[in-house]
Amino acid sequence: MTAFPNAFKNQMQHLLKEESETFFSALEGVAPVSLRYNPAKISELPAGLQQVPWASAAFYLPERPLFTADPLLHAGAYYVQEASSMFLEQAMRQHCKLSEKLRVLDLCAAPGGKSTLIASLLNDESLLLSNEVIRSRAHILSENIQKWGKGNVWVSNNDPSYISNSLASFFDVIVVDAPCSGEGMFRKAANSIEEWSPQAVNHCSLRQQRILHDIWKSLRPGGILIYSTCTYNESENELNLAKFKESCDFDSLKLSLDSSWGVTETVHNDIFGYRFYPHLTKGEGFFLSVLKKSGDKNVSDPKVKKNALSKAAKDSDFLKSWCNNPNLELFKRKELMIAVPNSLSYEAQLIESSLNIVSGAVELAELNRKGFIPIPAAALWTGLNKDSFNITELDLENALKFLHLENVNPEITNTAEGWQLMTYKNLGLGWIKKLSNRVNNYYPKEWRIRMSLDKLI
Ligand code: SAM
Repeated sequence: MTAFPNAFKNQMQHLLKEESETFFSALEGVAPVSLRYNPAKISELPAGLQQVPWASAAFYLPERPLFTADPLLHAGAYYVQEASSMFLEQAMRQHCKLSEKLRVLDLCAAPGGKSTLIASLLNDESLLLSNEVIRSRAHILSENIQKWGKGNVWVSNNDPSYISNSLASFFDVIVVDAPCSGEGMFRKAANSIEEWSPQAVNHCSLRQQRILHDIWKSLRPGGILIYSTCTYNESENELNLAKFKESCDFDSLKLSLDSSWGVTETVHNDIFGYRFYPHLTKGEGFFLSVLKKSGDKNVSDPKVKKNALSKAAKDSDFLKSWCNNPNLELFKRKELMIAVPNSLSYEAQLIESSLNIVSGAVELAELNRKGFIPIPAAALWTGLNKDSFNITELDLENALKFLHLENVNPEITNTAEGWQLMTYKNLGLGWIKKLSNRVNNYYPKEWRIRMSLDKLI
């Protein structure tokens, strides 16, 4: 039996009354494993797996495989994500106009579970800004976003108040998946039990209040804020939102639920909350609520103060042959050539000149004195025109060796010299450069598989 702090036991008994016993027994069980496919990369979904009912292209696995040993994970074909948190899809489908051009901010985004989900829901004209305040985590987020392969996502590393001051009334939708006391992860990550205390709950609640207040200004009137945590206590959930309502004007939006999902709806001060408990739903603890900011007056867009991106020179026009979609504009960010959807030229200039950008749009190539070097993100991009490249399709063993940053055996590669796209099951993984006497592996060092190869093959 897991030893939970007494204060946590009391809190759950108070919340769940006679149900608390079944709740605590569920916490002794095994956390389900689930993943969500990337519809832009995988068209044929597996048969025979149980679907996550509130999400599309998402499944439970009967047991946890060694995901690192599957090149498809590194190709961004799927994201391993806890099932309850995929409920964000319902909030977005039911309350955000996904067929229109939207500007969406995922404020607390690392490692990227919600952002990859949002990226799959948005159309290609829309913008997703995935932000993470902790620098090292922003890099992990950027890796996951690049692997997911959409060309309309930017990753930034900024404090919420900084974003609000730079981009007032800019976003149509903001997702705040707040840092929390993590009670919902007690089954999955037992170490979170040791970090829990009533003081930690209080600290989290105050921090969440601050985050909500800090980011509110950047939501346009009439815009939607989706707030979520992976914790059960009310101080970080319903009570926090009720307190927020005392100084910020919004309506709470209701979600339609299928009763078979087992999601619990709560109402506090006219605020609807949606709770996931492991004894009622197949997933970990989760809370979500949808707020609509009052007002609908048109607010003028912030001005671009300086151009952070310059137009690409004519001699880089050949890069257009790398792109399937002609509705893209090439820009230069320092030495990087990037392709931006035409619909996002203004937004790209604005956010690139206002925020600390880690990566964004699709980064195609770096120009240096000797020519250009293709960027890993381009290999993973779903808009890449593969016909423009020599390709080597790798088998499982060679794909893992490539991802491990081993020397690539020239014998297994395409005979053509120069840049080659490495693929696995027809999905891009990265680049090599084939010379007359050797092959250089250009897979990024920071992304390489670190586990020993004999454990993988
Ligand atoms: N949304 C992510 C996903 O689905 O993969 C998980 C986000 S996690 C629950 C919360 C994130 O908030 C963490 O990455 C953490 O670094 C970040 N965070 C911590 N303090 C913050 C603050 N003061 N403002 C904004 N974000 C913060």
